[in-house]
Amino acid sequence: MPELPEVETTRRGILPYIDQQIVAEIIVRQPKLRWLVPDEIHAMEGEAIQSVTRRGKYILLETAKGTALIHLGMSGSLRVLKKGTKPEKHDHIDIIFANQKLIRLRDPRRFGAVLWTTKNPLKHKLIRSLGPEPLGDDFNVDYLFQCSRGRKVSIKQFIMNGHIVVGVGNIYACESLFKAGISPKALAGKVSKARYKKLVMIIKEVLSAAIEQGGTTLKDFVQAGGKPGYFQQQLNVYGREGEPCLVCDATLKQIKQGQRSTFYCSKCQR
Ligand SMILES: [Zn+2]
Repeated sequence: MPELPEVETTRRGILPYIDQQIVAEIIVRQPKLRWLVPDEIHAMEGEAIQSVTRRGKYILLETAKGTALIHLGMSGSLRVLKKGTKPEKHDHIDIIFANQKLIRLRDPRRFGAVLWTTKNPLKHKLIRSLGPEPLGDDFNVDYLFQCSRGRKVSIKQFIMNGHIVVGVGNIYACESLFKAGISPKALAGKVSKARYKKLVMIIKEVLSAAIEQGGTTLKDFVQAGGKPGYFQQQLNVYGREGEPCLVCDATLKQIKQGQRSTFYCSKCQR
């Protein structure tokens, strides 16, 4: 699943090709994504892209007439191609620009979304209740500690909750908790402020490193320039159950928490 670093990498990848460019045409081959692609999306045609921003895992393409919201879902990717490049299976939407470039959404599983709003996109119902950006100043120890009090969920599920903070996906939650030395099973409401301080710092570090490397790899992610985005970040625990911990040599474990696999070291993480 494209996680926040992949979405940010995608945003940075498409930005130089489409910023301030005029949308010539939008081709919708398959409107049945997670939600139906609205006909109003064609309002973008003839308009210039004024900004290419991101909130959570939504990429926002702003024009004078409104804003397109793009989500990559489970398996979506956006690539920049030359106008006229033949579409393949699962290439559902093209946004073609007057500069002869196009951005193409490929989404085999069709859990992605392309939506349109004429209002402030940050007030859109899918966006307004999102927690703060993990790399922004609003995500800090005071905020996270305050939110955690009285919470009986595990710390792992707590930091993966998009209403608390966006963008801490499964890989990043596992890796951050390992680096912070916190058991994924610890109850969010019982973790000390000192440990939250460390955790916040580490989450920021881990996500920044992933963005820098172009996002942790996943099979369906294709980097915006068209190259396959295969940037394997060194993973300490994720996907390594049964293997030795890189720090203490203990055998790493795997458990399920909220339907998601958690990987951890029971010796390093308490
Ligand atoms: Zn260990």
